[in-house]
Parts: sequence; C-alpha cells; structure tokens
Amino acid sequence: MNSKLNKNLRTARDEIVPSRYVVNVGDIEVIIISDGILTPPAESMATNADPKTRNAWLDERFLDHDAFDWALNAVVVRSGDQTILIDSGLGEEYPSFPRAGQFVARLEAAGVDLASVTDVVLTHMHFDHVGGLLVQGVRDRLARDVRVHLSAAEAAFWTNPDFSRTAMPPDLAELARSASREFLSVYADNLMTFEHETMIAPGVVATKTGGHTPGHSVVRISSNGEKLMFGGDALFPVSFDHPEWHNGFEHDPEEATNVRLRLMAELAGTGSWLVSTHLPFPSLGRVAPSEKLYRWVPAPWDY
Ligand SMILES: [Zn+2]
Repeated sequence: MNSKLNKNLRTARDEIVPSRYVVNVGDIEVIIISDGILTPPAESMATNADPKTRNAWLDERFLDHDAFDWALNAVVVRSGDQTILIDSGLGEEYPSFPRAGQFVARLEAAGVDLASVTDVVLTHMHFDHVGGLLVQGVRDRLARDVRVHLSAAEAAFWTNPDFSRTAMPPDLAELARSASREFLSVYADNLMTFEHETMIAPGVVATKTGGHTPGHSVVRISSNGEKLMFGGDALFPVSFDHPEWHNGFEHDPEEATNVRLRLMAELAGTGSWLVSTHLPFPSLGRVAPSEKLYRWVPAPWDY
C-alpha cells in the first residue's frame, strides 16, 4: 500500500461521520460507500428550468442557489463467492471538488480488500464513476483478471464522445474525456462489454438504459423475493419532483427524462429499493406515487 493510501485509510477509520451502510437483499449483501460530496453549480441540476422556479425549489429545501451538495455513492455487492464493485467514485480530490475523493480509503475502512474484487460494473464512464479505479496503486491491487463490465455502447461512445448537448463547464468536459480515455487504456484487457443486459452473478443483472450517456446502465439485484436497483445517474434529487429537468451532465437530456420516468414507474410499481449515485447518503429508499407524480421515501436507518 502506498503512503497516500495509508494516510487516507487512517483518516477514514477515524471519521465520526458514517461513510458506509450495509443492507441485505435476500442472500445478497449490498454495502453503500460514500466518496464524499460534489458541488456542481446548482444551475446544472435543472438547465432547462426557469431560474425563478429552480430557486424556489432550492429555497423550499433550504439549499444554496449557487453550488449544489451532490452526494457521491458507489456500492459493493457480495453474491455467492463474487465481490462486485459498482462504480468507484471520484477517487481523488480535485481542485473543483475538495469534499470528494474518499472512495478507496472508505472501501478499505469498510473492510473490503481490493484484491477480493472479482467484478466491476460501470453504470457509465464519467469521471465521478471511474475515478476510484484510476487512483495510483489501485490497478495493481486489483486481481490481474478482474472482470470489468460495461455496455458496448458506453465503451464505443467514449472513443469519440459528443458533449454538444451537455452543459458541463469546459474543465469538467476535459476531465471526462481524459478519465474515460485513461480507463479504457488501463483496463483494456479486462473489459467485458454487453449489448443490452448481462448477468454479473446470481441475482445481479446489469441492463443498459441509455439517456444520461448512450450506454448508461442500471443494476438490478434480487434474492428471495427482495429487490434493489442501483440507479447510477438515472435519478437525481430533483428528479422526483421534476423529471423533466435536464441535468447539465446528460448527453441526451430528453432521453434521460424518458429513462427516469420509466424507472420511477417500475420502482413505484414493484416497491423495489433504490440506491443511487447522487441521492443523499446512504441513498437507500423507495419511490412512491404522489399527487403530483412520485416522491422519494428514504429508508429508516437500521443501526
Ligand atoms: Zn455521476
């Protein structure tokens, strides 16, 4: 272990705020791990909204009009003898995001050894999802033959990405380009792409949704009649009230809205748990119908 990881690991163990949360879905264990908080411009949560409407939504929740506190979560799934990492956070501190980049240290603090990971699933290749796997020393600590699953459309998209419909600040678009390029090169021998859907382990299935990115995928987990979906970047804190609000990081905003509506209808219909990258930690809850459309019902903490 290099010295930087050592220092971060000590910090993660000493933290008094919780950074991990475990839930059992039948026989499958799901550990939610926080990478910290990103603070994109609040505007990027609703690029097509009237600023007055957006600010009113923020005011009702005591939120700042400028930067939005956007949680960043990834998960570890244990099914049978497989240990599956779904996404990996930002991985390191960036000047724009000083409050994130904790994932690797917090993974270790949660007792998950990188060497034990058999599979990685990427919902998509934005830097806040692949970054943890690019932290110095991480590749070497993962098994040589670790399987990295992502949709074929996602891998293809990042060979020549189109940002024309996003509203990302230029430095973040550049970070997205460089992180995905590096990822495709470092993990080239480990990639296992799928067209529409693939079973990662018994009860763990990744399915392409598109929308946020052309190959964006969600992971559905089911065991003994219990269900949980990891929604990646399909659903954001604003999405339950305003699924029509475009997010600045979406490469096809209209399709992203269609995907959200479809997934929320499914979740409200089945009662499945949802865990999502950017919902407040531990981001575990359910989607229920409401008078307007849907509402988010967080799970009571079990500790
Ligand atoms: Zn994201």
